[in-house]
Amino acid sequence: MSGVNDPIPFLDLSGEYHAVEAEWFAAIHETGQSGRYILGPNEQAFEEELAAHVGTKFSLGVANGTDALLLSLRALDIGPGDEVITTPYTFYATAEVISLVGATPVFADILEDCFTLDPASVKTKITDKTRAIMPVHIFGHPARMDELNAIAREHDLAVIEDAAQAYGADVGGKRVGSLGNAGGFSFYPTKVLGCYGDGGMITTDDEAMLERLKKLRNHGASAPFMHDTVGYNSRLDEIQAALLRIKLRKLDDDVAKRRAVAARYTELFAGSVVKAPTLPANGGHAFNLYTIRMPERDRVRGVMNDNGIPSSQCYPLGLHLQEVYEHLGYKVGDLPVCDQASTEALSLPVYPAMKMEHVERIADTIIKALG
Ligand SMILES: *Cc1c(COP(=O)(O)O)cnc(C)c1O
Repeated sequence: MSGVNDPIPFLDLSGEYHAVEAEWFAAIHETGQSGRYILGPNEQAFEEELAAHVGTKFSLGVANGTDALLLSLRALDIGPGDEVITTPYTFYATAEVISLVGATPVFADILEDCFTLDPASVKTKITDKTRAIMPVHIFGHPARMDELNAIAREHDLAVIEDAAQAYGADVGGKRVGSLGNAGGFSFYPTKVLGCYGDGGMITTDDEAMLERLKKLRNHGASAPFMHDTVGYNSRLDEIQAALLRIKLRKLDDDVAKRRAVAARYTELFAGSVVKAPTLPANGGHAFNLYTIRMPERDRVRGVMNDNGIPSSQCYPLGLHLQEVYEHLGYKVGDLPVCDQASTEALSLPVYPAMKMEHVERIADTIIKALG
């Protein structure tokens, strides 16, 4: 029997699994018999279906979201001597790929209301070495793409969207992933569109870029066993692609359910000192996570832990202050909005099958702990 004080899971994907199990198993069975396990018919069909859904001409399956961003930078020929402006308030992979291609990540500050890259701060970071801007649609909130694209046009920069957390978010009805030169998605299980392993996708309208990306994901091969580029082994396998095709058909419904969970939290936090996440002025939030800000975060989190209430501290330390970037010389206070978010923000669970009574218990515990 479940009681009122049972621990609440941060994420429970088991219900969703039962809903896709039969269809997925049939697809696995078919794939097994087909003998085509890598870059086969499911992967190709999923690329077409995802591009149509996102609204780009092309998409290309890769091994994970990190590779989606890494290969995009390589395809744009970004490397040593180049700078890429990005946000410090994100998962490390965003900046890691900039370092991996030999370029330098340059961190701009974020906006207080939605945790995404601040276009005004980006402007102050542009130098003659800047080649690209990499905004992140963090937690599922779309970045200010209109302003960022305008800055990019003015300075002749590429824009790579890190859409890893934001499948289903949009700006003015155009889905994220279709708003820059390229978009990178992750299908890591905890993401809005997740598979049961690793997977990723690059979206683009640029056919020349697509051709470079195809080569890069397959060891830089120009023809079988002929290589003119140092590439990667980065492919999406048939079994995950088959699952993702099934899940893509439910995606809009899943995002609607995430938004309903978020709306319930926001309703419950109204009138308290908790700052609920803002909705984009012109677009849709995908709510991969529901991230609040509040005073005494660490004390409240302790009370939550004692009561079996899960949370995640996204993100405890801005990337500009991480040990790996010590050589870049950033100090506490250089990006004050990010620093403040690191001390106040707490991410709460959201998933399509989340029970509203859990949402209520979580909000209630937080409000009571704040007194
Ligand atoms: C998850 C994530 C990635 C990396 O995706 P993987 O599939 O885990 O490689 C990149 N950027 C952000 C913002 C993410 O949340």
